Formats: sequence, structure tokens, C-alpha cells
Amino acid sequence: MSYGNAILDAIEIKKFGDELSENLIREVVAGYTEGEVPDYQMASLLMAILIRGMSYEETLALTRAMADSGERYSFPECVDKHSTGGVGDKVSLTALPIVAACGAPVAKLSGRGLGMTGGTIDKLESIPGFSVGLSEERFRRQVEEVGLAIVEAGELAPADKAIYALRDTTGTIDSLPLIGSSIVSKKVATGAGYLLYDVKRGSGTFMKEMEHARELADLLVRLSEDLGIKASAVITDMDAPLGRTIGNALEVRESARFLAGDELPEDLSRTARYVATRLLELKGTPDPEGAVENALSSGAAYEKLREFVRAQGGDADILEDLPVSDEIREVTAPRGGYVARLHALGIGRASLTLGAGREKKEDEVDPGVGVEVLVGVGERVEQGEAVARLFGGRNAERAEALVREALELSDEPVEAPLVILDSL
Ligand code: URA
Repeated sequence: MSYGNAILDAIEIKKFGDELSENLIREVVAGYTEGEVPDYQMASLLMAILIRGMSYEETLALTRAMADSGERYSFPECVDKHSTGGVGDKVSLTALPIVAACGAPVAKLSGRGLGMTGGTIDKLESIPGFSVGLSEERFRRQVEEVGLAIVEAGELAPADKAIYALRDTTGTIDSLPLIGSSIVSKKVATGAGYLLYDVKRGSGTFMKEMEHARELADLLVRLSEDLGIKASAVITDMDAPLGRTIGNALEVRESARFLAGDELPEDLSRTARYVATRLLELKGTPDPEGAVENALSSGAAYEKLREFVRAQGGDADILEDLPVSDEIREVTAPRGGYVARLHALGIGRASLTLGAGREKKEDEVDPGVGVEVLVGVGERVEQGEAVARLFGGRNAERAEALVREALELSDEPVEAPLVILDSL
């Protein structure tokens, strides 16, 4: 089949801001995925979309075409959550064992981190023995028997994978219809029946303004519902990192300690509880808040985490003490004051610089490096007091400078920020 006319027609139509038909969108998506449409033509269309926008109907058609471009799973009884990505975001590691312990099965396909935002798959791989590549049959069996399985998303929605890679290098990431269709196409192909979106707003995300985060949340829910998923969304803060650790093994340790009952920073504990409650609500669990508290206080959520880790071959006995780098450097406060900001972007960059994430897709991550922040927004620090601990020797000086820049102190008392900003 020749897709040459389809892509040229699509470029002409979108250049003038007119509407693409569903058939034309399907042809272009198929043509690009099969390698018939060259990058330069697709990039031209994506730029026209970024500038001219897309109607809701076009966005829905694009989502459907990308979801249908490869294999599709079906887990209609399962719940799933999706985060738009943040720094130190360990909501999957904490909220999902809670909901699974409450009897709502979770089938999750997850990604690796790129840039500042970490990926759940990299975090789980910091557990010795943990396998993220189960066969489809084993994945299904684990969902039935354990109620929680997380594997690496493979070839789902291959059209999105190809288009996303092109967007990444052609300045066409920040388009609402392209972001919405990209995220939802993967979720539709994953096939969970109930889905909660955790849309992050703040300096560490690409939705810096509340208004844009709300627009994205609305779009994600509407597309998902129209494609057969019961969905809702929460908007959570990502001006500062979530919890106290950033880096793969460090984040697993913090998550396991939370589920084991350790006192944790309020932001992580509130977000994990809230997301778990909202997921159970979606699934129709009676008294979801009570169920969440019970799963935490009885130890059932912690046991579920251990069972899930064991089922995927990981060592569940060392989760709270996973090995981390013994090259440790403390960053101290340059003067006394109240912590006014702890910019997620800067702390995320520091962790990336130490080797916890990838600057390019092919980079290797070091599971044992990262940043532990020792203070939260609103807390008072004295001059010379340690505000962060860096784990890892690579670029440690640069990482220290980034943490220093990320810390803003005020002479006046500062209120701790809200963590749950809105919900739909
Ligand atoms: N995450 C995605 O999966 N797609 C986007 O376009 C942006 C973020």
C-alpha cells in the first residue's frame, strides 16, 4: 500500500488548521509505523498539529489508531494508575501494594526513566533477582494468584513509540493532543478496566501551570472513558520531590519502609493513601479509606509488596536495606532559614548527574546512587546543617552544586505546600 498521498494530504489539511478524518489519521499512523512514511514528512505533520491543534474527535481517532497499532491486552477486572512523571515519584511502589492487599488486582506495564523522571521498571530492577520481563502467561497467572504484577511495557502501541521518539527530537512534545493520545493509547493497549491518572503539576514536570495540568487531566479521562476504561484523575504537586529520596534503590527502600510502618514525610504518605483510596473508589470497593488504613496498619500492604517481589524473583528480605553507594557526601545549608523551595527540577538533575537516570536512551543507570533530602519545605535549618546526602561518586561536585541551587531559604516562616491539588 502507498501512504505517500495520505501523509501529503494530512500535511496540507493541518497546515490550514482544518480537520483530519479518522481514515486519514489511521492511514498516516499505519504508514509511519510500517516505515513507509519518512521522518521528515511525519515531523512536518506533527509540527502542524502542534501549532494548529487538534479537535477532540481527531485526538480520539489518533489515540485509537495508535492503540490498535500492535498487540492489545485485556484485564477488564484490573486497576492501573499512570503518573505523568515526577522526581522521586514512588506512588506506584506504595499505592499499588495497598490496593492489591485490599483485593483489587493490579496488572501494570511500566516504563524506564528518561531524563529527570524515573521509571518504575528501573526502580524495581534495583532489587537483586527481580525480573521485569515475564511471559504473557506468567504475567496473567501472577495477576490472578498474587493480585499484583508489574512488567516492562514491550511492543504495545508501537506507533506511539515511533512517533514519541520523533517528537522528542523535533520539538513537538509539548502539544496537549499529542501528549494525551500518546499516554492513553498505551493505557488502552494495556487493557486495565479501571484507571487513575496522577497528573503532576510543578517545576519538575512539563505541566508547570495548574490550568494546563487540569486540561491534560480532563483530556486523559475523557479519552479513556470514550475508549471503554473507567477513569478518573488527581492533580498532585511536583514543585518539590515526593518523599525524601530520588534514585532507584533509595526509592524502593523508602517505599518498603513506608509500607512496613515507618514514619515518613507527610507528602508521600498522603499521596500514596489518596491514590490508593481513589483507585479503590473507581473499582467500587466499599469504604475505600477504611480499607486503605486497614491494609497499612495490619501489615497486609507490606506483605503484598513482599509477595509480589518474591513472585518476580526478587529478594524480599532486603527491601528496606537495598545496597546503595558508600560514597556519600553531605550538602549543608549556606545560612540559617526556612526551606521555601526545594526545586524538583534541580534535585532531579542532581540525581541524574550522579547516574541514577538516563540522559540518552542507551545510558546505563546505576541502581545505588541518588539523593536523599533531609529537610522538607517549611522546615527550619541552621547554617552548616546537612540538607541532603548524595550517594555516588560520579560528578558529585556538580550534583552538590545543583542541590545547593535547588534549595531556596527564606527568613520568614513558610507553610508546607499542599500535595493533592485537585481531583476529577
Ligand atoms: N508521556 C507519554 O507517554 N507521552 C507523551 O507524549 C508525554 C509523556
